[in-house]
Amino acid sequence: MTAIPYSHQKIDADDVRAVAEVLRSDWLTQGPKVQEFEQAFARTVGARFAVALSSGTAALHAAYFAAGIGKGDEIISAPITFPATTNAALWQGATPVFADIDERTGNIDPEDVKRKITKRARAIVPIDYSGLPARLGELREIARQHKLLVIEDAAQALGARYRGKMIGSISDMTIFSFHPVKSITTGEGGAVATDRKDFYERMCIFRTHGVTRDLRRLTKKKEGPWYFEMQELGMNYRLTDIQAALGISQLKKLSRFIKERREIAERYHHALSGLEGIILPLQDTQEMQSAWHLYPIRLAGSIAKKRAAIFKALREVGIGVQVHHIPVHLHPYYKKLGFHTGIFPRAERFYESEISLPIFPGLTFKDQKHVIATLQRILRDI
Ligand SMILES: *Cc1c(COP(=O)(O)O)cnc(C)c1O
Repeated sequence: MTAIPYSHQKIDADDVRAVAEVLRSDWLTQGPKVQEFEQAFARTVGARFAVALSSGTAALHAAYFAAGIGKGDEIISAPITFPATTNAALWQGATPVFADIDERTGNIDPEDVKRKITKRARAIVPIDYSGLPARLGELREIARQHKLLVIEDAAQALGARYRGKMIGSISDMTIFSFHPVKSITTGEGGAVATDRKDFYERMCIFRTHGVTRDLRRLTKKKEGPWYFEMQELGMNYRLTDIQAALGISQLKKLSRFIKERREIAERYHHALSGLEGIILPLQDTQEMQSAWHLYPIRLAGSIAKKRAAIFKALREVGIGVQVHHIPVHLHPYYKKLGFHTGIFPRAERFYESEISLPIFPGLTFKDQKHVIATLQRILRDI
């Protein structure tokens, strides 16, 4: 039996051609293809600027840096995410604060965000979990009232829409990931979309060692053509032209990829709704259209405690399910920071009952039918 992964990239001949072309050119590191990718990406998500970076994690770090978030500052995020969301704030010396989630979606609960705001708060960092936009309208309003930034972790949500607008055109900064399981891939890679020129410029400097050659920025006259200045403590977070070529080629297929993910989600919904013991993710509405990065089901009622057995039974027949995510505050590193079990009960319950079913462009109808039939059988027999 062939294994069905929970997610998989879709690479076609045109992607391979685009990459091979760069390999025969003079530029391998950040060059004209990165610029072309950034422009196409900004256009796609409806932002003035996009900065390409070496990963979604680097994108988060660059965004916190650009916002000037550092020691003594707090960011308010949610526990149901990949740890990078708050790790990158820790690198800046900032303090992560968590608000609990809305169990229907896995996304941050704006009411709990309000309770967590202190004088030290600088930014709200919602995650668009599973590709479904967070309640961005309410979060923006809370941010406005308290003079906070919204830095949206949309690593899972490229191609999603909120109130008709593309994700990437709403928050002060929106971060994306191009890891192979995400909406499009560059191998590793990420980007930040923003309308703010100052943020854009700070991120450009940050990803290249904090270095500038811009005459308007230099603190003194150039000592010669070689002259540059390191003005910030930056990193090497550049994307390569090889990766950017793949990104440009993949971006052209974004709407097709999302459409395919949506069709898979609709088929799951149709086949699984009414099945006892499971709660399905919310369907798309006029207000929110998910990028369907995940299809997260939750176990309820008498089978809620049998997640491990159900997960194992699916894996044993080659169905690559996953669990998203271990709540960040329960990782040993965060426990050392003072977090402990029991403080975010909704996130913890969500984690304990969740299973992500396979969803990705290229998942065949036949394979999906197999997933559905197997799940139905396991739930019946368990
Ligand atoms: C994937 C992901 C990241 C990290 O992105 P990388 O490109 O793997 O560094 C951050 N946050 C969320 C919510 C993610 O899903």
